[in-house]
Amino acid sequence: MNYYSTNKQAPLASLEEAVVKGLAGDKGLYMPEQIRSLDKEVIADLKNRSFHEIACTVAQAFFGEDIEPETLDALVRDTLSFETPVVPVRDNLYSLELFHGPTLAFKDVGGRFMARLLGYFIQKEGLRQVNVLVATSGDTGSAVANGFLGVPGIHVYVLYPKGKVSPIQECQFTTLGQNITALEVDGTFDDCQALVKSAFMDEELNRHKKLTSANSINVARFLPQSFYYFNAYAQLDKAGKADELVVSVPSGNFGNITAGLFAHRMGLPIKRFIAANNRNDVFLDYLRTGVYTPRPSVPTIANAMDVGDPSNFARILDLYGENGNPYPEICQLISGYRFTDEEIGATMKSVYTETGYVLDPHGACGYQALIEDGLAPNETGLFLETAHPAKFKGTVDQILDTDIKIPAKLKAFMQGEKKSVEMEKDFDTFKAYLMKQ
Ligand SMILES: *Cc1c(COP(=O)(O)O)cnc(C)c1O
Repeated sequence: MNYYSTNKQAPLASLEEAVVKGLAGDKGLYMPEQIRSLDKEVIADLKNRSFHEIACTVAQAFFGEDIEPETLDALVRDTLSFETPVVPVRDNLYSLELFHGPTLAFKDVGGRFMARLLGYFIQKEGLRQVNVLVATSGDTGSAVANGFLGVPGIHVYVLYPKGKVSPIQECQFTTLGQNITALEVDGTFDDCQALVKSAFMDEELNRHKKLTSANSINVARFLPQSFYYFNAYAQLDKAGKADELVVSVPSGNFGNITAGLFAHRMGLPIKRFIAANNRNDVFLDYLRTGVYTPRPSVPTIANAMDVGDPSNFARILDLYGENGNPYPEICQLISGYRFTDEEIGATMKSVYTETGYVLDPHGACGYQALIEDGLAPNETGLFLETAHPAKFKGTVDQILDTDIKIPAKLKAFMQGEKKSVEMEKDFDTFKAYLMKQ
């Protein structure tokens, strides 16, 4: 299948080109030319299928023309070595726990699938080494680094701001070794991102090295996120709770919710979506006014959602813009809510006191958006719990007055030896370093 750019100025790309390039030449985001619907009978039968079978059915619809079934099956099996359970929190309100992967965040699904798909293309085509550059404020770096760990033909450089990620996050990408290099940049997250962007633009560097990006602009990272929407539907359908499903997604770059919108387009019966935001609420402004105005991000306790110009917004516009103005359809299907740090903390506290369920600050936005929305009696609410609360232990313990247990997986990282390369924030130093590698 071919992929077109949301800016419509770049040539069509094959799956391989779209994955290796990441962003289209006209700076648009790649979209699949077709989004295949699944038959009603297939959807009705999801409840009798395993997560692996469900994911293979969805993967087949996207990648079936480009990858043989056995290979795709293996890619999916390798990616999904963990479950994404739906857990009841209170009447008609469920948590989709996406944090049971190796780095305890939902980005493991896309990170692992992309690593395996890229690894497959590198092997098949005998490409020279591909270098993945990823700037991180915490969570993306760990999921991408762990996804790519040990994949032949790929080297990952994680750029992170010195002293500005939590110790738990830092050890998830500085202790790995092998094909993962952590670059500790003397600057902010924005400085890290600027270095990565400059690297992609630098002709000399790109002649010497094959560079790609692994954030959610990459189709290989973002499309597989639709797998767990189908799986969640299957679990709720089995419990007789899937008829009027409202899905609330804590959103930053809007990759996760866009994967849900793709699932919806493929025929998954979700009644409507909610985009839950922290104080970074440019999408909510768009819903209210029809005008999209990006702004610099502000820091919050749900820091993986501190995004002032969500990159996947272009995909949402494209998805609903086929017949003109996408605004009315977007407003019909998606509503938005925003929460301050105080409101996020109050939600975490009351849910813990009333139900015993520990929300992380991101999931708390998703939960509270369903409450504010006021579900109708026949509706079922599902929010995506995007990270394990232990990843934000400091914040969570302080708000809940707890001492939550750190899962063994996370502890193992914390015992490793930290290795990083100190890096200035100026591009010339960074470029000279990459050229020498
Ligand atoms: C990345 C992330 C988000 C935001 O997801 P997007 O796809 O960027 O909207 C939400 N919560 C957590 C914990 C994350 O790591």
